[in-house]
Amino acid sequence: MVALATLSQARVQPSSGFDLFSPQEEIQAGRQAAGEVVRQLPLLPEPSAVTKYIQKLGHELASHAPGEKWPYSFRVVNQKDINAFALPGGPIFINLGTIQAADNEAELAGVLAHEISHVVQRHGTRAASKQMAAELPLAIIGSMMGRSTLSQMAQLGISFGVGSYFLKNSRESESEADLLGTDIMYDTGFNPHAMADFFAKLEAQDGKQGSLAQFLSDHPNPGNRASAVSQEVSTLPAKKYRPDSADFRKIKEQVASLHPMTAEQIAEWQKGHATTSQPASFPGNGIAPSTALKTFEHEGYKISYPENWRVVASQNKDSNGFAVTIAPANGISNGQLTYGVVIDRYALPSASVDMEDAANKLIQSLSEANPGMRAAGSATNIRVNGREGKSVDLIGNSPEKAANGNTQQERDWLVSIPRGDGSLLYFVFIAPANNFDALRPTFEQMLRSVQVH
Ligand code: ZN
Repeated sequence: MVALATLSQARVQPSSGFDLFSPQEEIQAGRQAAGEVVRQLPLLPEPSAVTKYIQKLGHELASHAPGEKWPYSFRVVNQKDINAFALPGGPIFINLGTIQAADNEAELAGVLAHEISHVVQRHGTRAASKQMAAELPLAIIGSMMGRSTLSQMAQLGISFGVGSYFLKNSRESESEADLLGTDIMYDTGFNPHAMADFFAKLEAQDGKQGSLAQFLSDHPNPGNRASAVSQEVSTLPAKKYRPDSADFRKIKEQVASLHPMTAEQIAEWQKGHATTSQPASFPGNGIAPSTALKTFEHEGYKISYPENWRVVASQNKDSNGFAVTIAPANGISNGQLTYGVVIDRYALPSASVDMEDAANKLIQSLSEANPGMRAAGSATNIRVNGREGKSVDLIGNSPEKAANGNTQQERDWLVSIPRGDGSLLYFVFIAPANNFDALRPTFEQMLRSVQVH
């Protein structure tokens, strides 16, 4: 029995290095940065099939990660460019374009395993700590211990948000992430070589497609990627690796028809979007949703909503009393909805061949009724109460004026699902652009509660 211990294969252990951040501070710094990412980049909705798949795969890989048990989270950015990045303490973002570019599940898992490894190795906070040490006199560093590293970090203008210098990895960090990633892949049952293959494929394509540059500059080739992976794999027993899952094939089919936003489109989208680094906050006047929920029973569905919001019949004359609005007390001003959700049905003008076509007709109809409203990005698949529907972000003009009296942009999240009688049941979640993300978790929670009759 003693032999078992010596036979067990060695795994790469996380390296340690100078880090001013306690694990709690690291998690907090990552959460702050993730909040910024959520405001600055278009994400696929949490309940979308693609996001759910990535979360499942990501958490499975993370369960094999050594070291500190960080609270990992995974979100998909609706962006075409191939990229992925990890924030301190666990938040990982992967672009839709990366999923589209992966030829097999192991390649996709490789990108996630590599990002998870950057979290394990605390590469972001270690790089930031070095910078802080270089900028602060040692005496201050000493007296800082026990005080908040985060406030020092803020004072020095160091952040981990979108485009942060500290998310650009050194070649040394890349080597470490590759080695840990190899073990995570192996232990999860994936062929670790696929990780190096994917990076090599990107390099081969670099130059032909300018959009790759970002990924490769954030994750520079340490020089011997493939051979380092082979070397590590050779220390582990031969293994039969798992094939692509049915889920992966289904997701690949779904993403093939999606048109994620280009970097230019995202820059345009950000103009109508809060880019402030202030934490998301609710405006006053009873807009903030209570955590206690109430349930509303409609003839067509059931939905939960914050207890301090109310249900009012919608003013839409065409809907024959079907439409309702659920909104905070002050979410409706001058008869116009500023915060809340409109739920209605949409009878298709003609027999629609598929959900995509139906969803596009609905967007067109909403744009006609609401001048200035337009889709930001393309519709993605979403599952609501077991039904395959479509989700799309819209931009419009908010009835609420900005503080300086100017018109401000509104964000509308449109989700539509088939009712089974040829019509669609749809939800438009509405808020001024700069407050939308503060309400998004509430909107997502409401959507998850929906039961269609
Ligand atoms: Zn990397």
